[in-house]
Formats: sequence, structure tokens, C-alpha cells
Amino acid sequence: MPTKEAEKAVVEAYFNSTGFERWNRIYSDSSEVNRVQRNIRIGHQKTVDQVLAWLQEQGDLANRSFCDAGCGVGSLSLPLAQLGAGSIAASDLSAAMVEEASRRAAAAGISGEQLRFTASDLESLEGHYDTVICLDVFIHYPQAAAEEMVRHLAGMAQKRLIVSFAPYTPLLALLKGIGQLFPGPSKTTRAYTLREEGIVRAAMACGFQPIRRSLNKAPFYFSRLIEFEKRG
Ligand code: SAH
Repeated sequence: MPTKEAEKAVVEAYFNSTGFERWNRIYSDSSEVNRVQRNIRIGHQKTVDQVLAWLQEQGDLANRSFCDAGCGVGSLSLPLAQLGAGSIAASDLSAAMVEEASRRAAAAGISGEQLRFTASDLESLEGHYDTVICLDVFIHYPQAAAEEMVRHLAGMAQKRLIVSFAPYTPLLALLKGIGQLFPGPSKTTRAYTLREEGIVRAAMACGFQPIRRSLNKAPFYFSRLIEFEKRG
């Protein structure tokens, strides 16, 4: 088994090269996507839209601070800023992804004060935020590493923690893992499905309670979204 650091280095190299090309296209409105990629785009957008709906429902966006860990090209952070979020700290392991995110933010006229970008792995993040969000990042890590990430993120969250991941299900196991669900020549990293109980237990160990969940699906995309709230 590769060590966690080795695994992370592979993920970082991927998202700075072929992974960047692939995901930057998927997370855009480019027409240069195949059917699989188009479906992943549709499924991922459901996750983003669900998070934005939850956050708007809670309201008071202007007075809350957000951390978007593993922000990618800013698919969540950009619309969140446009909805009036007070301050957002967005970061990603991949310098290429963060660079693209900040280019998109500038193009959209979003101020660097409202939305700050940093190239950093989420394990090195510090600070405290009202709400910490981490979407579709854990798929690159095995269970124990993902749970460790949940605990680290929970430690930075004052009120809420929102995470999404590809859940382990017997059906997916039958398909011998998500590899066959996310095919394509440039998909070179391993994809891990995770046990939801483990993710929930990790957050609960840090004083968080799951308050709502959704399952966002499209062909070739399958993501469990959970919102946790700090116990009062
Ligand atoms: N959250 C974004 C991007 C998802 S793609 C969205 O939903 O749109 C997964 C992202 O996780 C990639 O940009 C990758 O570089 C990043 N990532 C992978 N491992 C990471 C880690 N350890 N710390 C921070 N980011 C990581």
C-alpha cells in the first residue's frame, strides 16, 4: 500500500497535468467533453447546487466565513461569492487548479478580498471558519486517510461542516469499484469509495452531528453529500 504522502504526491501531479486538463474541461461549459464527462459535469453540478441551496436556506451569508478545501477551479466558491458570502478561503493541492480558479474569479469581477485562493493541501490548512466545505476530494484517498481529513476539517469548523464523497455500496462493489463508473483514458488516479459510517463517526468524534444528507447522481457520477452541525 502506498503511504498517504506518496498517494497525495500522485494526486498532486495528476491535477497539475492531465487531470487539470480533464477536470478543467468537465467543470466548465466547454463543448469538448464526451458523454461520460458531460454526465459527470451534470452530477457534480447537482452537488454544488445542493450545497448552495442549503447555505442560502441558512442565510446570513454576508456575515459568515467559509473555507472551501480542495476548491478545484472554484465551482462552488465562485457562485458562493456571487451570492454575497462574506469571506471565502479557497484552497487546493493543485497549483494549476487554484490558478484557474483565481483566473475565473477575476474574470467574474469577484474581489480578492472576498474570495482568497491558496495552493495548499487541506491537511496543512489552519484557522477557523463558520463553515468548512470539502466536495468530491475524498474519492482520491482510502478510508483511513479520508477520515483523518474529516477530523482535520472538523477542527477548523466553528458551526458547520459539509463534505461529499463516493459512497461504498454493494452495487458499486459488484462493479469492482468506481473505476468502471468513471472510465476514460485520462483517468489515471485511483478512485476510492468510502464507508459512510466511518465518515460520520470521524465527524462525530469531533463534536459534529449529521443534520442532512443527499445523494447526487447522474450516469457515471455518484456522490453522497452530508452536512454536519456542531453540537451546542
Ligand atoms: N471541490 C471541487 C473540486 C473537486 S476535484 C469541486 O467540487 O468542484 C478534486 C480536487 O481535490 C482537485 O482539484 C484536487 O487537486 C484536490 N485535492 C486532492 N487532494 C487534495 C488534498 N489533499 N488537499 C487539497 N486538495 C486536494
